Formats: sequence, structure tokens, C-alpha cells
Amino acid sequence: MKHRLMKTGRATRAVHGARYGAFQAPVVQPIVQSVTYRFANSSDVLRYARGDESVYVYSRYRNPTTEQLKEAVAAVEDAEDAHIFSSGMAAITTTILALAPQGSEIISGPALYGGTYRFFRDIAPNHGIRIHFFDPRNLDTLSQLLTERTRLIYFETPTNPTLSIVDIKGVVLRVREAQKKLRKHIPIVLDNTFATVFNQRPLQLGVDLTVESATKYIGGHLDVLAGIVAGDKRLVSVISGYAKYLGGTPDPFASFLLLRSLKTLHLRIHQQNKNAMELAKFLEEHPKVRRVFYPGLPSHPDHEIAKRQMSGFGGMVTIEVSGGVRSASRVVDSLQIAVNATSLGGVETLVSIPILTSHINMSKAELAQHGVTPGMIRISVGVEDIEDLKNDFARALGRV
Ligand code: PLP
Repeated sequence: MKHRLMKTGRATRAVHGARYGAFQAPVVQPIVQSVTYRFANSSDVLRYARGDESVYVYSRYRNPTTEQLKEAVAAVEDAEDAHIFSSGMAAITTTILALAPQGSEIISGPALYGGTYRFFRDIAPNHGIRIHFFDPRNLDTLSQLLTERTRLIYFETPTNPTLSIVDIKGVVLRVREAQKKLRKHIPIVLDNTFATVFNQRPLQLGVDLTVESATKYIGGHLDVLAGIVAGDKRLVSVISGYAKYLGGTPDPFASFLLLRSLKTLHLRIHQQNKNAMELAKFLEEHPKVRRVFYPGLPSHPDHEIAKRQMSGFGGMVTIEVSGGVRSASRVVDSLQIAVNATSLGGVETLVSIPILTSHINMSKAELAQHGVTPGMIRISVGVEDIEDLKNDFARALGRV
């Protein structure tokens, strides 16, 4: 006799079935961990084939947990629409490839996350896309670079790791002025990862789209990789069309974690802003610290622009110690609370040495262009007790 695990139709239905409405509605959005969806009948398939996007077909296209997150992100960002990706780089590269066709040019800020910079330097040219860099200290350079071939403006502010501030309104004004002559709309995309929408609202300043590594502050717990794009509905629709085939879709569990995280985003960032300001002030007074880069400090060269366009100065602080990478390593190795790890935006304080991490393998000229020096330590300030953090840094700096 053949051995059958599912002896009865009842067992088969119980194991392979899915029932909704059999329990009271949960408070938390459930994780719909399914790749595919039951069509109620074949008319659903027809509706989908005729272009009705509301039909769930396959989770690379659409998933209920991710849809809920999309709505939440669009609402928090006060954006017309949003799209969620499996990582910040998936959001960035999909956006760029969707908006900049072969033969086009992108004008970018020079100080970028290393992955984005390398994509521009090593991969975009293979797709026939040319990148030009404007000088954020002289926005006339941006106007001068705009041509018929320009299809995208891309920048970050605050920048990594020097936390320089680019004048968002200044960029928008220059681009909108030039596009009148060119008679076309040129999308402006800003990577808002460092500030988050809690501290800076680029869409309200005239930027078309924000991209963000949600791995950082939005996730906030260093346990989920994801990316978002938010803003103009028409542009988001073009980008989500590309995303379907480039495939950088988040897993439903990642969307679930991000929905959880969004609920405390304001609480975390509020505390991180506060801790970062206090730590920056403390480090500025410390004799072993040569320079502190924090846009909230009056000593920061871009403090005035930061005050104009940011409602909080963020949780990132960079310091420079004398003695180059050896001293920086000694400090980092002596910390007991702050953790030596890449990434940022989590509730735990992380430190990293840019020359060994985000800016590794860059030439001297490239490092100079990014303002990176060997003695720099980047600090992503967490939500710990600030006195514990100050003591930790005081002790570690004492070892230099
Ligand atoms: N943008 C910025 C400013 C980042 O710091 C990072 C990652 O560190 C990224 C984008 C890329 O994000 P992800 O690592 O989620 O792909």
C-alpha cells in the first residue's frame, strides 16, 4: 500500500489552505509570507492582464505587507507615492537606471555614499551614462553643467563623512531656472539617508524624489536591509516599473520589520539628535580631538544653511584625531560601549574609520575630493545614556 501523509482531503486542506477572517483582526499588520496568490476565479487573472494593478499575482510585483509599508512611507514622507526596495542600493540604482537612459548625463554632488560613487564611476558608464560633478560651494557650476543631455540631478546632504551641507533650495532654483530654457523637467533626486524626513523634508523644498537606505535610521535596529524612493507619482511609477524587472523587491519579513520601526522613528531620531549634539559639544572641547564635524555646531562651516533647511541636525558626528589612522584605530579599539562596525542609524552607537571602510580603495585625489583624512572617525550616535557615551569616548581618547 502506498504511504500517504495526507490521507484525507481534510488534512490536505488544513496543511495547504489559508484562511482569512477566521480570527479577529490583529493589531499588527501580518507578514504575508507568500510568493503567489489565489485567484478567486479566472476573471481576476483577466483583470490583471488588462492592467488592473490591484490584483495580487506574485510577490515580486506586489505583496500586502509591503503595500502597507509603502502607504505608511508615503504618508510619513508626505509624498504622492513611494516604492520599497530590498536595499538602499537597489533603490538608488533602480532609480538611476529608470530615469537616465543611454546617452544621457547625470549631474551629481561629489560627496556621495561610496557605493553610489562607485556605481557612478564604474557601472553607469557601461550603460552609456555620463556623470558630471558640481561644486556644492559654487552652485553656478551646476548651472554650467546643465545641457540638453542632462536627465537627472543627484546629491546627498548632509554628506558622508564630513557632514557638509548642500543648499537644497539653491540646487532646486538653479535647475528649475535652467530647465525653462531647455523646455523639459529635469528630476532632482536627493539621498536623505543621513537626515531622514524627521530632520529634513526635501520634497517640500522642491526636490522631486528622495531615496533612502531604510537599512539605516528608518529600520533603526540594524536588523533589516531595505531602501525607499518617495515623491512624484509619475516618476515613482516609472521606477516601480523598472523595479519589477530589476528585481530588488524586499522580503515581506523586511517590510514587517520596517513597519514596526516606523512607529518609533520620531522617538529614536529625537533622542539621537539630542545625544549627537551633546556628544559633539563634548568632543569639541576635548584636547585630543582636532576637529569635530557636526552641522549643529556654530563652528561647522555650513551651520547657517543647516539651520535654514533642517529641523534637527541628525545623529551623525565625525571627529578627526591627530596621528592619522593609527591614532584613530587606537581610539576605536579602546571604546567599550560604541561598537566598531560599519553602517549607521541604529539605536546602538557605531564608529568607523572612513579611510578603512566607506572610502577604502580610493585614490588620494578622490579622498581629497571627498574631504576624507586618515585620522577621521565617524560616529553614528545611538540612544544610550549620554553620560555613558561621553565617558566611553573620554576613556578611549585618553589612550592616544
Ligand atoms: N546611501 C547612503 C547615504 C548610505 O550610507 C548607504 C549605506 O551605507 C546607502 C545609500 C546604501 O544603502 P544599503 O546599504 O541599504 O544598500
